[in-house]
Amino acid sequence: MKCSYCNREAVYYQRYSGKHLCRKHFTDFFEKKIRTVVKKYKMIETGDRIAIALSGGKDSTTLTKVLLELYGDRRDLEFLAITIDEGIEGYREKTLKIAKEITRSVGIEHYIASFEDNFSAKLDEIVKVGEKLPCSYCGVFRKYLLNKSARELSANKLATAHNLDDESQTILMNFINADIDRLARLIPQRDQEGLIRRIKPFMELYEKEIVTYGFLKGYPMIFDECPYSYFPVRAFVRDFIYELERKYPGRKISILRSLEKLAESLRITNPQIELSKCKICNEPTSQDLCQACKLVNELENKISIEHNEKLSLIKI
Ligand code: SF4
Ligand SMILES: [Zn+2]
Ligand SMILES: [Zn+2]
Repeated sequence: MKCSYCNREAVYYQRYSGKHLCRKHFTDFFEKKIRTVVKKYKMIETGDRIAIALSGGKDSTTLTKVLLELYGDRRDLEFLAITIDEGIEGYREKTLKIAKEITRSVGIEHYIASFEDNFSAKLDEIVKVGEKLPCSYCGVFRKYLLNKSARELSANKLATAHNLDDESQTILMNFINADIDRLARLIPQRDQEGLIRRIKPFMELYEKEIVTYGFLKGYPMIFDECPYSYFPVRAFVRDFIYELERKYPGRKISILRSLEKLAESLRITNPQIELSKCKICNEPTSQDLCQACKLVNELENKISIEHNEKLSLIKI
């Protein structure tokens, strides 16, 4: 099949636009989409020091490479990468290795914050005694460490590799759970003290597009799934959206657009809560204790876990 724009062979069929794209036109489309989204949401601005959350998986690897490719020459910007090592044997080692290779290849600082160094326990130990699903612990501790590390490294933005598939699933799940407060947290709001602003340059790109771009560029791509990933509702929503998209291409984007159209109303009905400081660790929280400290309290009678006051970061 020929490209819809030129005579070359197509490498990608974009169902929602009905276009066949050759390598050049697909790459142009992909990079232009990132630039457009970055500009639209003012994700990257003069003077920014941007921490990239780099797990070493396919999405964050591509994010690191492409951000440095598109913006790495700008002298008014700085980039660094942070990897969280949760302590998942047989899984994290592989992605950590890739993460190191990537940061070396693009020449940026790279830091690792591990659960073991910062909470005295690996995720592998936590899941043996915890009553919640592994991701409930992992998600909270990882978010906590990413924010704290980015702040201590003087970053003012934290870039994550969330894509359109992730975003549309999260939006729909919040509707399904009637969790409008959480839905409102997805829209851009004013910055709050202690919280590093998150940016998602891939938010309007399909996961398939990210994988295709990574392959075309020859980036190392790891498809291993975390052994603890178990999201029954999200998996159901993911399959539902997938089927919807298959029959009616473009629905993922329209789910995202629906949230954009609701943004103004949500800012009024669900205004941002003023954050205070956690009574134990001083990190920003909307309650007395932050989620991480609550989980540590819950677990401390079962395993040796403690909240190390000083952040432990290893520079690679
Ligand atoms: S799937 Fe769950 S447990 Fe595994 S890395 Fe992701 S959040 Fe952590
Ligand atoms: Zn072409
Ligand atoms: Zn705390």
